[in-house]
Amino acid sequence: MNLDAGTGTDHRRALPSVDRLLQSEAGRILLETYPHQSVVDALRQSLTEARFGSGRGDLSENGLVATGRHILESRYLPSLRPAINGTGVILHTNLGRAPLSARARQDIEQVARSYSTLEYNLDAGARGTRHEHVTGLLQRLTGAEDGLVVNNNASAILLALSATATGKEVLISRGQLVEIGGGFRIPDVLRQSGARLVEVGTTNRTYAEDYAAAIGEDTAVLLRVHTSNFRLSGFVHTASLGELVELGRGRHLSVLDDLGSGSLLPTESYGLAHEPMVQESVAAGADLVCFSGDKLIGGPQAGIIVGKTDIVDRLRRHPLTRALRPDKATLAALYATLIAYELGAAEREIPVWRMISLPVAELEHRGQVMLTELNSRQASVVPSQTTIGGGSLPGETLDSRAIALRPVAGSAQQLAGELRHSEPPLIGHIEDDRVLLDLRTIAPDEDATVCRIVADLLVPHATSSL
Ligand SMILES: *Cc1c(COP(=O)(O)O)cnc(C)c1O
Repeated sequence: MNLDAGTGTDHRRALPSVDRLLQSEAGRILLETYPHQSVVDALRQSLTEARFGSGRGDLSENGLVATGRHILESRYLPSLRPAINGTGVILHTNLGRAPLSARARQDIEQVARSYSTLEYNLDAGARGTRHEHVTGLLQRLTGAEDGLVVNNNASAILLALSATATGKEVLISRGQLVEIGGGFRIPDVLRQSGARLVEVGTTNRTYAEDYAAAIGEDTAVLLRVHTSNFRLSGFVHTASLGELVELGRGRHLSVLDDLGSGSLLPTESYGLAHEPMVQESVAAGADLVCFSGDKLIGGPQAGIIVGKTDIVDRLRRHPLTRALRPDKATLAALYATLIAYELGAAEREIPVWRMISLPVAELEHRGQVMLTELNSRQASVVPSQTTIGGGSLPGETLDSRAIALRPVAGSAQQLAGELRHSEPPLIGHIEDDRVLLDLRTIAPDEDATVCRIVADLLVPHATSSL
């Protein structure tokens, strides 16, 4: 309702008191949910907005309390809450990386709800270990002798180096001294472990002989790091993992392979370049292979370490493992994620793989349905490119479709900001003065919500000024 000055004044004079609103049926319901003072503050704000004409317009008692409820709901909204990812980056670290499968979500709920067998051995009726729940699966899926799970891959590397190289030397190629994002730099982690870094080769070319020449009395580890988020091309050479393993074997050195993302499925089957697979590193003979749980594995945040029994066992008994141990929700979700691979259901169940394998025709179809729903000349369906993200497959893209929104008044930046401040937040990206919402990273069951949010911000067809 838009009040003109005259009638507005009358209405405002008739506004009820805060006390009256508190005593109304709707007001009493608010008091059952929220602290008294918060309700008073919210109703006061609602009345102030009504008085100065900035409110929602409904000046009835119920309308005023409803505005108060909206104010309270947004005040108590968790800062960490669901958001819709329209960025077209599948493993978006800032948006929580991999969404979890239905199976993983259910299993988290199960172990969260009651006591569990987290560290309880049912046969012995006594203390067991949390480190055994996923070991069998890791062995079967990767071919490794043993496996261990910690908090994330950064901690996996820290633990691996602390247990194998404290006070000793670690050889690493100059081309692999990378920063992964979020300020995580391999040399810094190395230092934290008390190991000494020895750089070998050059930025673009490192040969097995460079490692061999650098091996000394104090050398303990040959470290290979997958360069994840960037790609060198041109005059480039890196020593293969097989060469490092051969070298390490002759000199009694451990070979540690940090895969970053790592994959259990062949990415080339999905029209992408080949991302190193965990099975390959194990087969090549690496002593330890570590990778993230929430990148291409598609599970919860975790650092997964697989490798030779004697060395994994040394890690398991290291004091740092106690500080880096995963919680029950992580272990439940990781088991549920890994079992999908064993059952051959990864592409169907794990959201990351479902997104990667979606045909463009399906995205186009969803886009057209949404366009009909939106009924605005500001919106269109355009070709777009999805990236994998999470430091895997740099430069690789999948053809996709996006809803493109052209702002009528204001800039694309402003429109993107309004979408971010909707509930749930909708995150897009800007291209050619339009906001693009990539449909590959938006789950189909979020389409209706996206339409609702977008429709609120667009000028309807009939009155469009375009
Ligand atoms: C992502 C990444 C890490 C860190 O993994 P987190 O699970 O985020 O701790 C380490 N090494 C490489 C090569 C990576 O790509």
